Amino acid sequence: MSDGVQDLRTDVAHGARIYDYILGGKDNYAVDRAAAEASQQVWPALPVHMRANREFMHRAGRFLATECGVEQFLDIGTGIPTRPNLHEVVHEVTPEASVVYTDNDPIVLAHARALMSRSGQGSTAYVDADLRDPDTILDSREFRDTLDPSRPIGLMLIAVVHFIEEDDEALDVVRRIVDVLPSGSYVAATIATDDYAPELLAEVRRAYREHGETLKFRTYATAQRFFSGLDLVDPGVVQMHKWRPDDPASLEVPEADIAMYAGIARKP
Ligand code: SAH
Repeated sequence: MSDGVQDLRTDVAHGARIYDYILGGKDNYAVDRAAAEASQQVWPALPVHMRANREFMHRAGRFLATECGVEQFLDIGTGIPTRPNLHEVVHEVTPEASVVYTDNDPIVLAHARALMSRSGQGSTAYVDADLRDPDTILDSREFRDTLDPSRPIGLMLIAVVHFIEEDDEALDVVRRIVDVLPSGSYVAATIATDDYAPELLAEVRRAYREHGETLKFRTYATAQRFFSGLDLVDPGVVQMHKWRPDDPASLEVPEADIAMYAGIARKP
């Protein structure tokens, strides 16, 4: 399809494809399924956790569009399209909303056209780039043509910063992007943690690593640093299923089954 697809490595597991497999998708290879199965073997909650992440993404998009009036979104670490995607969620509220998607995985690039399908008056664009290289994202024609830098932008970092192992690097690249966002912008993020099931998640990390993918779990204190200088909206940084749940029944999920913190914050 495009140059990027030639880089598709089907011999090593990829986070995007493990996630796709667990969510019931078909865009995954044997190595991804092996990594997912091995992880699930040691931590049977993996599907519960991944679905909770996807549900947080939906709530966050809806919250920003509905309660915060955000009409422009930069979604980094988009993943393989699983309906509804962010643009579908926000277009339900704001048909003219614009969404720029970014991912560094060739399989997501291969699906980029599906992500760019237009609905309503809003536009959707895709940038093939790495979060570790914010300038490529911010200087891209897609970013500059699709989003108005003088109006608030919702930066979505959902299940992506755990692929950057060094805390300083992960915090720095997020800071560099937040720095260019106008006042009134928001950051919504989920940040992997092993605070609630350290032994099991050490095994999950090992299973990922054995199949070629890395995972970095972070403490509550480090998770909070992703929002420093920003005003966290209630309830602050919490396990993601506890962030304004749609259904109170989701609070019955055991804490040990959820390995992500979530937060949404406003740039003053
Ligand atoms: N945000 C979506 C998908 C999460 S899966 C959701 O929460 O539902 C994580 C995605 O991050 C994958 O698609 C993976 O390819 C992407 N990713 C991992 N490391 C990245 C990096 N350094 N830069 C950009 N994208 C990255």
